[in-house]
Amino acid sequence: MVRLPLERHSVTKMNRIRLLVFNPALPVLDYKVPAHLSVEPGSLVLAPLGPRQVLGIVWEADRLPGDEVPEAKLRPILEVLPVAPLAAPLRRLIEWCADYYVAPMNAVARMALGSMAALRGGGTTTEYRLSGHEPKRLTPQRAAAMDALHGEQATIRELAAIAGVSEAVLRGMANTGILEPVTVDLDRPYPRARADFAVPDLSAEQRQAADRFIAAVDAEEFRPFLLDGVTGSGKTECYFEAVAEAIRRKCQVLVLLPEIALTENFLRRFEARFGTPPVLWHSSLKASERRRAWRAIASGEAQVVVGARSALFLPYARLGLLVVDEAHEVSFKQDDGVRYNARDVAVIRARFEKVPVILASATPALESLEMAEAGVYERVVLPDRFGGAQLPEIAVLDLRKEPPERGRWLAPRLVGEMRERLERGEQSLLFLNRRGYAPLTLCRHCGYRFQCPNCSAWLVEHRLSRRLSCHHCGHEVPVPDECPECHTGDCLVACGPGAERIADEVKELLPEARTALVTSDTLNSPERISEFVAAAEQGLIDVIIGTQLVTKGYHFPELTLVGVVDADLGLEGGDLRAGERTYQQIAQVAGRAGRGEKPGEVLIQTRHPEAAVIAALAAGDRDAFYAAEAEGRREAGAPPFGRWAAIIVSSEDEAEAREASRAIGGARPNLPDVLVLGPAPAPLALLRGRYRYRLLINARRSAQLQDVIRQWLASLSFPQGVRVSVDIDPYSFV
Ligand code: ADP
Ligand code: ZN
Repeated sequence: MVRLPLERHSVTKMNRIRLLVFNPALPVLDYKVPAHLSVEPGSLVLAPLGPRQVLGIVWEADRLPGDEVPEAKLRPILEVLPVAPLAAPLRRLIEWCADYYVAPMNAVARMALGSMAALRGGGTTTEYRLSGHEPKRLTPQRAAAMDALHGEQATIRELAAIAGVSEAVLRGMANTGILEPVTVDLDRPYPRARADFAVPDLSAEQRQAADRFIAAVDAEEFRPFLLDGVTGSGKTECYFEAVAEAIRRKCQVLVLLPEIALTENFLRRFEARFGTPPVLWHSSLKASERRRAWRAIASGEAQVVVGARSALFLPYARLGLLVVDEAHEVSFKQDDGVRYNARDVAVIRARFEKVPVILASATPALESLEMAEAGVYERVVLPDRFGGAQLPEIAVLDLRKEPPERGRWLAPRLVGEMRERLERGEQSLLFLNRRGYAPLTLCRHCGYRFQCPNCSAWLVEHRLSRRLSCHHCGHEVPVPDECPECHTGDCLVACGPGAERIADEVKELLPEARTALVTSDTLNSPERISEFVAAAEQGLIDVIIGTQLVTKGYHFPELTLVGVVDADLGLEGGDLRAGERTYQQIAQVAGRAGRGEKPGEVLIQTRHPEAAVIAALAAGDRDAFYAAEAEGRREAGAPPFGRWAAIIVSSEDEAEAREASRAIGGARPNLPDVLVLGPAPAPLALLRGRYRYRLLINARRSAQLQDVIRQWLASLSFPQGVRVSVDIDPYSFV
């Protein structure tokens, strides 16, 4: 259904309007509407501001406080943009997020808008493709480019990237007719997804789950579900049935995935089920794709959108269903700009839109489980793997009793198991959640340690790219030949393992094994991801070594052994969710084993087999883990039993940051249900060149936490260079 730009019959003409404006200093301004224009709440308009123009959203004046400007002083708006107004449920969502996350409303609203080009719409662009004309003589460069460009059609710049040649080479090829221009409509429609393209045979349990979702889609009302199913139980197949129902009802669907790396796999499954890929939304879309997607979403033409968390704020014309897959994932939490949690905002959006929302996970967050316990979320359980596959056997390998050889990280028993898999033609996977070769490099001679100049962090050695790099700010230097401090040559030692180092160790111990290193450094494009998946599926890889990138989504039937290289790594951070995160990561990566006919085995290397998380994993006792975790959180007053918030103060000037944090600390509220800790230097005391201090606020659930923080900060003012940000329900404590 395409919404008409104006619902004239329902709206009396607005003469005086209040705008939410995209200007940090002046977020709310009043204007008048000239006689020839007509607006309604949600309309996107251009208005004059001094000598310039600003973009604004017409807002209900009684919901957006502003200065009362006399009628005579109002300037007229200039233009109403030719797109559907932001609908009321989306406006309510924007207000809710601004209020809940203590964020500026225009910063939240910004996430609903595409580019200015998307708002204007229409128009064409020129793309190029091979014309079929082949000259007799070709330079080697042109010949190579022709090979690379088979089946491709894109702008010259994009083709240059695909073919790995300069744009000038391609322009030359266009001039001689090897490439031909094609005029492309920027708003051309997407192919239609077909609800019944390839309907699977569901198991009885899956059928039950799917039917509950379908009924909720049909009811067109707010119903939050927690789809709690073990790894390999077919959660995707089940929620696909609800997606199919939404397609039949001509409603739009949004599926949120935690990482683009998972998308490739998802796209293939989606296409197999619905006959065409979904519409994608993420930060690395080309400008033209972004604009096309935004317009199709706003017009209702895009049926199913698969996106990263930012897709949550788009102006869907007729949303019928929301799905958050791998809903426990930490990456749904945004930690800069508006600090929101997409999992929670998805539920709120569903409530405003009056549609069902499905949170799917094999290892739900404790918060989600508690909501299910309390009956707020409807819990749908898939207790078994599909097709009779068994969950893997999990065993603990105590590194204190079975240490690896000197200078190695893999214990002999684990290596022995890997060797057996190799001999049987099965696959193994080693998980270590740390990119690069070694997390710390030091000088053997003088003890110098390589540290980031912008952050309180060590530089991580990457052997593949021969660089030392900071994983917080991206600062990089080539690995030097000598120590920068004592100038001794050949004296640098790598301390500790990263995934690259484990891959090297596998090559030394099992030289005949074919290995694949899977990190965001090596699998950094959809093509690379597809290549990896294809190779793993065809049995061309014996040992996969990877970071959290390999813990979820993949289904390799021949993979029968998972080794967790260092289960204690995640517990070191010591933040509130360290135990839960470790549990989730290991349970998820364990879930990659034994998904086919052969049973799977998991070996967890640890120095703390007695830790509650490890013991629960080894015993396969999920309930025990969650019960212990819930008890700990209850005692600490942590979510979901109490609430946390953080205030983070930063400045390029150390003293300024410290002063500002002290001023905030000095003005702390004195309330019985709010406890303020700090200020203290943040664990990452220097980040991207800014010095950081933190205050932590622990509140009872009875406290009006956001109001308290707003009032507290409103009474203070800070120097220009100081940034104060509020993090409600923080995930990161660094
Ligand atoms: P989960 O997301 O719960 O880990 P998936 O949805 O990825 O599980 O399903 C695991 C595997 O089992 C996938 O390869 C999927 O295609 C297959 N599968 C699950 N249910 C069915 C079904 N009803 N018919 C055919 N294949 C299925
Ligand atoms: Zn850095």
